[in-house]
Amino acid sequence: MSEVDCNVVLERLWAFLDGETDEASCRELEAHIEACLHCRNHADFERRLRAVIQAKCRDERAPLALRAALDRLLSGSQ
Ligand SMILES: [Zn+2]
Repeated sequence: MSEVDCNVVLERLWAFLDGETDEASCRELEAHIEACLHCRNHADFERRLRAVIQAKCRDERAPLALRAALDRLLSGSQ
């Protein structure tokens, strides 16, 4: 039984996408994302978002305001 649930996945999603999670939790997150449509949609969305951000904005400052706005958007629309 995995300890990973949706909240854990969403909490760690950015670290996961950054490759900052250790290998064991990386695999757990991956397995959950594979199996969970909600988290998969979320991960897809953030992956695409990050690609856009990286393409458009090479600024070192993480777009925290943008991320907060998106979090609000996502929680409001689901
Ligand atoms: Zn999930």
